[in-house]
Amino acid sequence: MANQVTASEPSKDRKNSQLELKEKQLHEKSPDKWGVSDSKKLFLIQKWGDGFFDINEKGSVCVKPLKNAPKGPCIVLQDILDEVKAAGISLPLVIRFHDILRARVVEINKTFHNQISEANYRGEYFGVYPVKVNQMREVVEEIVDAGAPFRYGLEAGSKPELLAVLSMPITTGALTVLNGYKDAEYLKLAMLGIRMGRPMVVVVEKFSELPLLLKIADEMKVEPIIGMRAKLQSRGSGKWAASTGDRAKFGLTITEIVQAIDLLKSHQKLHWLKLFHFHIGSQIPDIKTFKEAITEGARIFCKMTKMGVPLEYFDVGGGVGINYEGGHNNTELSVNYGLKDYAMDVVYIVKQICDLEDVNHPHLVSESGRAITAYHSCIITDVFGSVAYLENQSFSTEKKTGEHIIVTNMRDLFHDLQAHNIRQTYNDALSVKEESISAFKLGVLDLEERAKVETMFLQTIKKIIEIEKDTEEKSVDTEALTAAYSQQYLCNFSVFQSTPDTWGIGQILPIMPINRLCEKPTIKASMADITCDSDGKIDNFISFSGIKKTTWFHSLNNSPSNPNNKDTQGQALQSENPYYVGIFLTGAYQDIMGDNHNLFGRLNEVHVYCDDDDPNDFYVEEFIRGHSAQQVLSTLQYSPEAMAKNVKSIIDAQVRRGKIRPREGVELCDFYEQSLAGYTYLKHD
Ligand SMILES: *Cc1c(COP(=O)(O)O)cnc(C)c1O
Repeated sequence: MANQVTASEPSKDRKNSQLELKEKQLHEKSPDKWGVSDSKKLFLIQKWGDGFFDINEKGSVCVKPLKNAPKGPCIVLQDILDEVKAAGISLPLVIRFHDILRARVVEINKTFHNQISEANYRGEYFGVYPVKVNQMREVVEEIVDAGAPFRYGLEAGSKPELLAVLSMPITTGALTVLNGYKDAEYLKLAMLGIRMGRPMVVVVEKFSELPLLLKIADEMKVEPIIGMRAKLQSRGSGKWAASTGDRAKFGLTITEIVQAIDLLKSHQKLHWLKLFHFHIGSQIPDIKTFKEAITEGARIFCKMTKMGVPLEYFDVGGGVGINYEGGHNNTELSVNYGLKDYAMDVVYIVKQICDLEDVNHPHLVSESGRAITAYHSCIITDVFGSVAYLENQSFSTEKKTGEHIIVTNMRDLFHDLQAHNIRQTYNDALSVKEESISAFKLGVLDLEERAKVETMFLQTIKKIIEIEKDTEEKSVDTEALTAAYSQQYLCNFSVFQSTPDTWGIGQILPIMPINRLCEKPTIKASMADITCDSDGKIDNFISFSGIKKTTWFHSLNNSPSNPNNKDTQGQALQSENPYYVGIFLTGAYQDIMGDNHNLFGRLNEVHVYCDDDDPNDFYVEEFIRGHSAQQVLSTLQYSPEAMAKNVKSIIDAQVRRGKIRPREGVELCDFYEQSLAGYTYLKHD
């Protein structure tokens, strides 16, 4: 069962080419035949959405916190935006679905309970939520509340996290597990938790913490539960593979575990050591990694028990992954298992090994974080324009008498371009373009000539892409060419604040328009944010056949027949109806790791709950304003009052010099102060 070898997959290449073919057919579908089901396929929403996200018959993304429960609520994102707008809250916006959070807590607990009873396993399940994954008070409170019937506990990895955890009303009997490096104060806070009547498990991450713990427990006259984290040799292949093995940052080697047992014995405190722990990393793509780690861990557990350690808990850490990519290919961003497969492996492997070793079944502890919070929040941003490198065709490139030969050469290349000379033309165009820049630097070309070369170069690229579109044997890498010259949709958000992992570790999040999904999206584009940083972009997107540099959006002009809706740089201007893009599965890590690059602060937030009696199936429990400019500035030692005073005194001086009229001066000062108090993102009024 659990140890069964997974059936070998059909040859990867064949699978991929089938997917590419299906993808091509979808892209070629005529716009009049396009329907919601095509959008579902294109954006893989049913795969990554895991039942929580869907598209309704009107072509809008909706959220089903109870998945497909009969008559379950279905919340349309646009309805939330309408309500938010009416309350005067602007985008970008974080939407939190508290019911999804609750559903995940229930799901993980029920899954473990079911596996335990099916396997006749003789221990119980004590899950804990590691708060580092999302420490927002409302998130932790919701998890604690939803977990109360299951005695679901919390895990802290630092002093400030422990301070937060101690303030949470967790149910009697639920565990508090403490990881991370600990100093005396951290340990004293743990002892305080014991005095509060809570089972606090102090997990020893480093040998030297043990003597310190013994000393402090003795001083404070409390009996802690000690956990021991092992450095396993089994390791994963994902981004966090370094979380185990000899060079792992945390945990004890086998030698240190034996020494720790001796130390506890010599203090007559071996009975305090009740929990065995390991954590092999986050977003584990392949269930095989878990199988190996659990097997190794269970053996160590049994051997420790046989040495006389009265262990009661077996803690498998976190690491359960999410299908960000919407595939099931165990690439780094997808997983080849579900919660049930995972729970089944934990229960059956521990049972099997304990039975073989004739050791009592321990209680099972898991510390899944990502799997609990990832789904519950999303970010909605508005697209305020686009940069289209290949769309600027209106500039006249007509031949002028006496023009430089470089300009003529580029024109000839463009005109002579045909299917049979693509590669040569492309290479020649690149070198003519280079020549034009050298010539410009030498003062030989003027600005107008350089602009002509630039325009005709882009026209050539565009023509190459068009000719190559339907050829099997491509002369140039049109995929790369299309990506390099694709449009960018300019989105009102900051990658560094809201999706830091897409920048930092190549995380990929599902991204798609939230409306107009009955309509075929025809624009291939990547996303750029509003920071002045060239890294402030997203150019990795999920697709049928793997990660792509661009994804599909609708045209920003609502009526495609209206070419006037563009400015002279080929930038589409925002039309009457704003175009909204959702960034999904942002509830784990993204929410709390963001920084204030360019001083863009935290986003506005709404907390949404299901409501059966509401016509739209929801109510907004809370609007939380994001950071104002002055809040962000204050964290950097600016004083908003002093700033306003400085600006005012300079304006006053201008008034005295007669450069500004007094009334105007007052208005300018007011405007400065309003902006200080305002949202840091772009406003559309
Ligand atoms: C980060 C962490 C977790 C949570 O990991 P996920 O991959 O989010 O499930 C659990 N335990 C420990 C010790 C951690 O450091």
